[in-house]
Amino acid sequence: MSAAISVKNLYRYFGKLKAVDGLSFEVPHGSVCGFIGANGAGKTTTMRMLSTLDYPTMGSIEICGINVVNHPAKVRSLLGWMPDHFGNYDHMTVLEYLDFYARALGYKGKERHMRIQEVMEFADLIPLADRRSNKLSKGMTQRLCLGRALIHDPQVLILDEPAAGLDPKARVELKHLIRILAEEGKTIFISSHILSELGEMCDSLLFINDGRIVHHGDAESLLQGTDAAGGFFYDVQLTGEASKLSDWAVTSPYVEFIEDRKRGGRIRVDSDDPEVAADLLRRMVKDGLPVIEFHKEQRNLEDAFIDILEKQ
Ligand code: ATP
Repeated sequence: MSAAISVKNLYRYFGKLKAVDGLSFEVPHGSVCGFIGANGAGKTTTMRMLSTLDYPTMGSIEICGINVVNHPAKVRSLLGWMPDHFGNYDHMTVLEYLDFYARALGYKGKERHMRIQEVMEFADLIPLADRRSNKLSKGMTQRLCLGRALIHDPQVLILDEPAAGLDPKARVELKHLIRILAEEGKTIFISSHILSELGEMCDSLLFINDGRIVHHGDAESLLQGTDAAGGFFYDVQLTGEASKLSDWAVTSPYVEFIEDRKRGGRIRVDSDDPEVAADLLRRMVKDGLPVIEFHKEQRNLEDAFIDILEKQ
């Protein structure tokens, strides 16, 4: 069976600027893939091409085995696109807005009514049905945008920064909706700057930089790796002042003080050998540090992302 998304040697030039520089990757059916990159890395450009909204300069894209350039209408029937900016019509209510899109997608009569109801229930839009669509909060707007992308019940969803600008509660709500869609077996390709969030919900993560893939793998393997220089991180908590830890680290070979925390800090060492960790702890106690907690820390995705860029 073909992958839900298959991209081969994809390029997009804007004049001399190479926004997308030879991307090749696949996203299997029913999986969630996080698309990560710094500002200007080429995420939106790639997603717009996947969604038939822009032409590749070179290379091929298939959605469920169908070529996006040769058969855009077929591809559009299979995918839902949620852009990072929401295009809106001032005079429409939420219900009218969804109805407009359902009509544009060719739904008629009872079926149209059912599709709209289903989407409104799913995205919790029923209480907002008569509200003007340009007067919604950011969280409500994103739910409406997701609802619109779901009207034709697409198999593949391309979501460009859906959580951008949302408060923590709205982010949790959106994440919950995305999780339900993933459980229903939809393939989801999602970009975000909130890496920790993507790690939780994605089966794989695709990092790009300057239009090129710099890493494609699962979150777990990224988090267990070392940093670019082969280091490991430990969280150390003290009963006394946190500054004691940074003073101690300055005088200790092979230990680097990384960050201050409320009661201690984070240090980096070159080895994850338990003997080295035990020796570190022995030395801290011997040197008079009032240690109450000492444990190896998983790296976070932000660390992993920065390491990958440094390895470049
Ligand atoms: P962000 O996270 O800031 O949204 P991004 O990863 O989505 O960034 P893109 O919007 O894909 O990045 O832009 C990639 C590069 O292509 C940037 O240098 C951008 O300025 C350029 N670019 C994008 N669209 C156009 C366009 N229509 N014309 C010219 N250059 C463009």
